[in-house]
Amino acid sequence: MRIPSSVCITPCCVASEQIPAANDEFQRVAAELPGSRRAQRVPIMHHAAAYPKIGGTNVTDLPLPCEVRGQLEKPLLAAAIHAGHAVRPELAELLAIDGATRLREEDPFTNHWVQVAPTGVVGTASRFEVDLNRPRDGAVYRTPEQSWGLQVWKEPLPEALVAGSLRRYDAFYAEVRRLLDEAERRFERFVVLDLHSYNHHRDGPGSEPADPRQNPDVNVGTGSMDRERWAPVVDRFIAEMAEFAYPGRRLDVRENVKFRGGYFPTWIHHGYPKSGCVIAVEMKKFFMDEWTGEPDPEHIEAIERALSGAAAGVLEELERM
Ligand SMILES: [Zn+2]
Repeated sequence: MRIPSSVCITPCCVASEQIPAANDEFQRVAAELPGSRRAQRVPIMHHAAAYPKIGGTNVTDLPLPCEVRGQLEKPLLAAAIHAGHAVRPELAELLAIDGATRLREEDPFTNHWVQVAPTGVVGTASRFEVDLNRPRDGAVYRTPEQSWGLQVWKEPLPEALVAGSLRRYDAFYAEVRRLLDEAERRFERFVVLDLHSYNHHRDGPGSEPADPRQNPDVNVGTGSMDRERWAPVVDRFIAEMAEFAYPGRRLDVRENVKFRGGYFPTWIHHGYPKSGCVIAVEMKKFFMDEWTGEPDPEHIEAIERALSGAAAGVLEELERM
């Protein structure tokens, strides 16, 4: 039985508190991609007006670190859990790193790509506040080894603040649990595109890019899934991305070369062993300048079109399974 697609699956958020970003850099770079222009040029399934916020009820004293958008109308979801940049004020004043440094390790612009799926989960909190792709005991960075050698905090974080960040973490996983339970109930099986991006000029602005042999344009992480079970879906995703008529070339798409997927897909595969398939997609940041945060709208649109085609292919394969 199909439930009408207009039925919200989680109560609409009435009191979502926007945490002010520690600086407005993210807004500045995001402003480079005005929605109206994109809506005209990018053949996406849903533009902003048809992609309303449907989830995000605060279940603790702090806001959820994500928004759920779109409608649960097909068994395909996309997530951009590292797209967030905001750090809540009481933590922001303890940060030892600036917004530009944060932005470099976050996944800016991945939030634009969730619209290739009917349902999107977009992170709103910076991974430097709480990293939703790490196990709970490492979700708040405390030592430089957890965060690319960066000393994130001016002083050790008070436990009460860590506890707040972990309440947001728990609320995120509770929200995802509700969403995926409903997806499983409606469709039996579902696929999540877990969208990320990664740096390849780590040695500094203008430095030589990292060796392309170990740094594909698109790294498809399938490390925690039952790969055989989901072969039709994953193989189709990879083929669609690799064969997409990308401007001037083809994308170099390879599996588990640099990343195998993080905690978020592992958690879903563990909780939904027969029904859930998460394809972890790490886009190399060739679509932006990772040091200035400057996006390249042509690349961002082209990647969105590639993902959109791959999403359609995934849905086709799911229907056949
Ligand atoms: Zn990421």
